Parts: sequence; structure tokens; C-alpha cells
Amino acid sequence: MKIIKNGMLVLEDGLVCGDLAVENGVIAAIAGSIAPAAGDEIIDASGMLVFPGFIDGHTHFDMDNGTTVTADDFVTGTRAALSGGTTVVIDFATQDRGDSLDNALKAWHKKADGRSSCHYAFHMAISDWNEHTKAELPNMFAAGISSFKLYLAYDNLRLPDESVYEIIREMKRLGGVVGVHCENGDLVNAGIKRQKAEGRLTPAAHPAARPPVVEAEAVKRLLAISQLTDCTVNIVHLSSKAGLAEVRRARQAGQRVFVETCPHYLLLTDECYRLPGFESAKFVCSPPIRDEQSRQAIEEALLNGEIDTVSTDHCSYTLAQKALGKEDFSKIPNGLPGVEHRPALIFSHYVATGLMSAARMSSLLSTNSARQFGLYPQKGALRVGSDADIVLWNPNKKQVITAQAQLQNTDNTPYEGAILTGGVERVLLMGETVVSDGKVIKEREGRYVSRHPVEV
Ligand SMILES: [Zn+2]
Repeated sequence: MKIIKNGMLVLEDGLVCGDLAVENGVIAAIAGSIAPAAGDEIIDASGMLVFPGFIDGHTHFDMDNGTTVTADDFVTGTRAALSGGTTVVIDFATQDRGDSLDNALKAWHKKADGRSSCHYAFHMAISDWNEHTKAELPNMFAAGISSFKLYLAYDNLRLPDESVYEIIREMKRLGGVVGVHCENGDLVNAGIKRQKAEGRLTPAAHPAARPPVVEAEAVKRLLAISQLTDCTVNIVHLSSKAGLAEVRRARQAGQRVFVETCPHYLLLTDECYRLPGFESAKFVCSPPIRDEQSRQAIEEALLNGEIDTVSTDHCSYTLAQKALGKEDFSKIPNGLPGVEHRPALIFSHYVATGLMSAARMSSLLSTNSARQFGLYPQKGALRVGSDADIVLWNPNKKQVITAQAQLQNTDNTPYEGAILTGGVERVLLMGETVVSDGKVIKEREGRYVSRHPVEV
């Protein structure tokens, strides 16, 4: 048995100073004090916060966007995740048009199996809705997939409203949750065309081509479909004040909806698109990073309980890959790295500053995702019987984010030079120490996590 002693345990109902025992990969006991027996390993957690392993419900590893493949694959991405305290990532297996969900799932297992340093699961992105796809859904649930992703933008992925409606109805029946990329695809295309026609080809044209109203319209439309189907949907990467207003309107009318946002919508503003030369390209992601008003609105929603989950939308490219759009902003691969730094960014900006409790951070970065995506209570909480995926967090550790020092396999980070308070000391994965003194010491121990249907 291993006993984590004298830590500040971040339990679901608050913080408790005490001990936690681990045996056979699961949490065996939680108590004020656990007396060790001969042969037990003691892990001193004095001065540490003890969190359940963090869950990142939104990553894109080893993803081919049609032009290039993301810089992080499952080897580098999950190692970076683990070093930052994330013990489960949920990546997006994506159906190609004309192909099956089954083939997409096989392809993602091939990318991840035996190569991942943290645990992993897959959302299934549906890009081709037809009778065959529909018939495959029960197999997906049997394979441990209980969440799906739909796009309202990107011509190679997006679905018409009728399909979105039908899929969400199926989810209601099968016990799945749908996450949706909310941007109006037609308006995005029109916006890009207009920017180019008017001769604006630099990264600064990216946010101009897809302003907040493009997100807000899609959020509103999705919420109408969700209302018609009486099924709760998940709005992924909510970025704007206008989009948030649609969420508030629906909730005030009694509708249930899950909302995810990402660190970059909380911590960055569209100033990043006004850098000299081509420097802004590294900030090109969709939805784009918004103005200070939207940033504040999303932050307010985070702090007053309107956001359910904070995930990263990790989708990393090197600067050389970003340069594919040197002459044309619409060809810049969309996405930012982030999986390594999410817990430290949120802790440093909100918990260390006293704006958020550690328990709330645990909900936003772990428990809520576990509940929403069918992992709870196996993951997402410190409970007797839960998997012993545990993070020992030093609230006083200082760290500086640099592209050079990061494990993320790319030469850039949107947080270059950021000085953060708080960081990982040790991570246990199924009870085994895989990160020690903040360094990954054991790789490729991650397992596929099969998820159960959820009631939404
Ligand atoms: Zn994404």
C-alpha cells in the first residue's frame, strides 16, 4: 500500500487535511490519519494540494487537417499532458466523409494505443450522417464512446441542421452527449472571401473574418435544436460575450446546456493579432481570441459558475507549419498548444489569486468532465474505489512557460514568458508514480478508458 500523508485533499465537497491510501491502482482509504503497516510506502504531501488527476476533454493529437498534421502526436502530447498534471485526455476520433465511424475509431486506437503516457478516451466526430453511420452508433457505445462531436463550420466536417437534429435525438435515446463547434460555416466562408477580396491577407484578417456574431448565431441555432430534441448539448470552446448571451437566454428560459471554454479565451485578447510581421500567426485558432470585453465576460462566467469545463482545444503546429499561410491567412493551420499548461494557468490566475477555490478548479478541470463524459466515479474525484490517478500540487512552486522548456512538441506557446505560481510535484497513474519532482519518469503507461452512457 502507498499512503499519501498530510496533504490538503481536494475532495468534491471541499478541502480536508488528511491521508489517502492507494492499493492495486485504486484509492483504498481516505481518512484524517491512516496508520502505515510494515512495508507501506509513505509519500509526504505536507504543504501540497492533492487533486484528482486532471481531465482534458478537448485535444487534437496526430490530426491531419487536410494540409498538414498537428505537431503533437499521442507520444508527445500525452507526455506533455502528464507533466502538467493531466491524467486523462479525450481526443477527437474523426470520421472522414464517405468512411465509417468504425474506421475512424480503429485509426485513433492505432495512433494512441501503447504510445500514451496518460490515459485517453475518444469523442467521435461525425462528418457524414446517413443510415450506415446511424446503424454504427450502438457499436460506438459498446466500444466505450459516449460523446460525439459535430461541427457547424469547416466545409469538410460540418453538418446541416437536419443532421444535427437527428443525431442529437439519437443521443437522447442512447445516452450520449454531443459537443458542438459553434460557428456559422457559411458566414465564416463569406467572411474569409470578403477579407481576401479587400486585400487583407495577414493574420489580423483571421478574427475579422469570423467575428463574435458568427459564433453567437451558431450557439443560438444549436440551442434551438437542443430545445426541440429535449437533449442537453455541450457548447465547446465558447469564446465570446455574444455567444454567452445566447447561453444565458436559454438557461433563463429553463434550458440545460453544458459550456466549455479554454484558457486562451480567459487569458488572452485580440491584441495578439496586432503583432508585427507574421508573429500573430501562432495565435490563429478558431474561434479566434476575442477582445477584452469578451474575455472579461467569459471570465465572469467562469467565476460565477456558468462555465462547466475548461479544456484546451490543444492543436499544436510549428511556426514552419503556420507559415503555410504566410501569403494567405486562411491557409494558416488553426490551433494552439495548451495541454501541458492548463492546470498551472488556471491555478496561477484564479486559485493563487484567491478568485477561485481549489475545489472549484478541481470541478472545472476534472470532475465535471468525468461526469459529463461517462468517466465518473472511476475518474474525476478522490473517492474510495476510484482509480488512483492523483496529482500532488505544490501551490508555491514558480514556473516560467517557454517554448524551449515545454514538452509540447512545438516551437511556440501563446504564453511565452508567463510566470506562474503553482505546479506539479508528483503524479500517480493507477497508483504508480509517473511524475516525480515535476519530471516525467515513466512513459507510455496510459490506458484506453472505456466510458459509459450518460443521462443528459
Ligand atoms: Zn477542437
